[in-house]
Amino acid sequence: MTRMPLASLTTARVGGPARRYLEAETEDELILAVRAADEAGEPLLIVGGGSNLLISDRGFDGAVIRIATRGLRMTPTDDGGAVLRAEAGHPWDELVAYTLAEGYSGLEALSGIPGLAGATPVQNVGAYGADVSQSIRSVRAWDRTERCVAEFSNAELGFGYRDSVLKRSTVNGSPRYVVLSVEFNLAKGHTSAPVRYAELARALGTDLGERTDAVDVRREVLRLRAGKGMVLDAADPDTYSTGSFFTNPIVDEATAANLPEDAPRYPVTEPGHVKLSAAWLISHAGFRKGFGLDPADGTGGRASLSTKHTLAVTNRGEATAEDLLVVARAVAKGVEQAFGIRLHPEPVLVNCSL
Ligand SMILES: Cc1cc2nc3c(=O)[nH]c(=O)nc-3n(C[C@H](O)[C@H](O)[C@H](O)COP(=O)(O)OP(=O)(O)OC[C@H]3O[C@@H](n4cnc5c(N)ncnc54)[C@H](O)[C@@H]3O)c2cc1C
Repeated sequence: MTRMPLASLTTARVGGPARRYLEAETEDELILAVRAADEAGEPLLIVGGGSNLLISDRGFDGAVIRIATRGLRMTPTDDGGAVLRAEAGHPWDELVAYTLAEGYSGLEALSGIPGLAGATPVQNVGAYGADVSQSIRSVRAWDRTERCVAEFSNAELGFGYRDSVLKRSTVNGSPRYVVLSVEFNLAKGHTSAPVRYAELARALGTDLGERTDAVDVRREVLRLRAGKGMVLDAADPDTYSTGSFFTNPIVDEATAANLPEDAPRYPVTEPGHVKLSAAWLISHAGFRKGFGLDPADGTGGRASLSTKHTLAVTNRGEATAEDLLVVARAVAKGVEQAFGIRLHPEPVLVNCSL
């Protein structure tokens, strides 16, 4: 038992100590550890790759379990595709690379996203016009309320934009359902899923909605992401972050009508609503890339917006969680003042708030 500094487990490199810290390397260890904490009435925080967590400088006064289970199992299906089962602790990008190496496609546009497989259904991880809800077949999880293993089909996971039943039942980083393993449906061959993102289509020299080579999609996604500081790089403080700090707001059409004509608007399934670009709102509210680096901006230059992208709040090396929040609050307030739209954080905030 150690008072583990949680900053060492998160990609934003902030977070105070855990009262009790342990790692679970097998599914049995994970379930036993969760049950023991629950039976002792101890607050519980589950940590995967720590890439979507902002933990306060006070840390976590309870048990912190890091998921360290690993393993992938590919089972070919009668229709020529395959089902890939991943243990929750398997690194996500390793999984994506493995599917392509084995000759299967479907996940290529989600290349380069940090973190572990078990966290991907939690916020329905997505990028470049794809998200995991398009591929997930089922999720097995430990249900802490019913104290049993539960299995969810894709429809039962209630996926939405960066949302799922798993996320909606998580409080302060403490989920009702601890994901044990995830199954993905894959297609045979290297023909990609349709390209659904204009910038990616341009990079590939193809049209929106067209299919192309999945290996090329992975290469271009990794290149585009690296250019925005969205692939972890220990040498680059622009990647010491939680990725996008804000979700793209979904607003009703009347609210969107009040915005300048050139504000991007994307269709969503909810009738009478559109999705806006948080990055557009931030930059048009006057926040430049690197906002915060100037000591006068409020954090002594310890935290700032990424110098490559206005959506990521970054630790320049010595920041505290509070420093990151100072930058995020300034941005959220500025956007609200300029456009009357409230931005919401994408990472899970533990013992802190915007
Ligand atoms: C540079 C960078 C780029 C990013 N780009 C993207 C992107 O393009 N798209 C995107 O969607 N996200 C992106 N993210 C955010 C993040 O990588 C994803 O949300 C990722 O899936 C989080 O995985 P993790 O294992 O690190 O989860 P953690 O940060 O460890 O945990 C996140 C939440 O999930 C919970 N959780 C984790 N594992 C489990 C489990 N097994 N069971 C139940 N709950 C669990 C945690 O308790 C916590 O509430 C980015 C982050 C960074 C740093």
